[in-house]
Amino acid sequence: MSEKLVLHEGEMEVMEASQFADVSAVSHAVRFDNDLCTGCGLCAAFCPMEVIAMADGRPQAVAAEACWGCETCSGQCPVHAIRIEATAQEGDAPAEASASPMDEHTRSRYREWARVLRDVLGLRWHPVAITLVRAGDPLPDVPMPEERLRYCQALMAARRGRALMMPVNRHACPDGTSILGLAPIPAKLASGELYILFHKLDSVEAAQRMVAERPSLPPRSVRATVTCPLDEPRCEAEVVAVIGTPEQMMWLSMATSYYTGHRHDFHASGYNAQCVETTLIPLTSGEINISFGCYGCRASSDVDDTLMMMGIPVSLMDDVVKGLRELGKRAIPQSRDKVYLPPF
Ligand code: SF4
Ligand code: SF4
Repeated sequence: MSEKLVLHEGEMEVMEASQFADVSAVSHAVRFDNDLCTGCGLCAAFCPMEVIAMADGRPQAVAAEACWGCETCSGQCPVHAIRIEATAQEGDAPAEASASPMDEHTRSRYREWARVLRDVLGLRWHPVAITLVRAGDPLPDVPMPEERLRYCQALMAARRGRALMMPVNRHACPDGTSILGLAPIPAKLASGELYILFHKLDSVEAAQRMVAERPSLPPRSVRATVTCPLDEPRCEAEVVAVIGTPEQMMWLSMATSYYTGHRHDFHASGYNAQCVETTLIPLTSGEINISFGCYGCRASSDVDDTLMMMGIPVSLMDDVVKGLRELGKRAIPQSRDKVYLPPF
């Protein structure tokens, strides 16, 4: 992707509360249990879409039509007094798939990449093929989830073999959705206010810098995200994500340098792991990137504490796989068999 498509500091389009309903497209009922609610106000403070307001010491859904079903409110409620229910409505029908089927040559190439990655590294799960369908491009024939998911949840589902396409009305994370170019960023995220509430950064200035330094795509430039197991691809991929142990990431990193000896400048932070670090940085830089995961994906998906991620641009995959094959002949099995004396 051209560097021009990436937004930089000061270029973000911020979504005002009045626009949320236009983007949401699936309505939700926000229900409060008044017997449990203590009136603490945390749900209103944390809702990124400004759906909830306090009135007479009680929370009210003043703009339920703008709710994205992100469950941030229910996750923050100390007494579990909130229930979010998706309610289907007109406009929620699956989008028409009209992209041409993938050609067999590309499909077998991806399968061979997946085979080498799994055999040489001993990966437990599928590598994941990632595509961002651009606005105006036809949609591939890939199933959509019935309910909204976070992008990181879709990526983790793909590593277990489930292909998913998600237009904006299937995305549950306002942060990831704006980063990936499906919608503008909500004002509460752009200002850094929410990161401070979560105690994830020291000051509004630090939060704003973190937001400004991450790449994001222009709002509405992407129509849908597609995440598939690499060995069962549905459309041409742009990035391949590998989820594995630090040792597997080490060999992948070395495979990328096998013919050149180049070291890597990884860009990782612990914020926005799957959308920024695993997807957008490889996509926009054309280089591999590593991610330690983020607190969001670790809380909302089944990625365990021992795992990390790497995003590899598809343009590098032939070389990475070639280097990995070479390392798999001697270096990897020999190193894995070596027993060193304990340090003394
Ligand atoms: S689910 Fe998300 S958008 Fe909806 S009310 Fe709760 S925090 Fe707000
Ligand atoms: S966070 Fe829970 S307890 Fe606090 S106001 Fe909202 S519903 Fe009530």
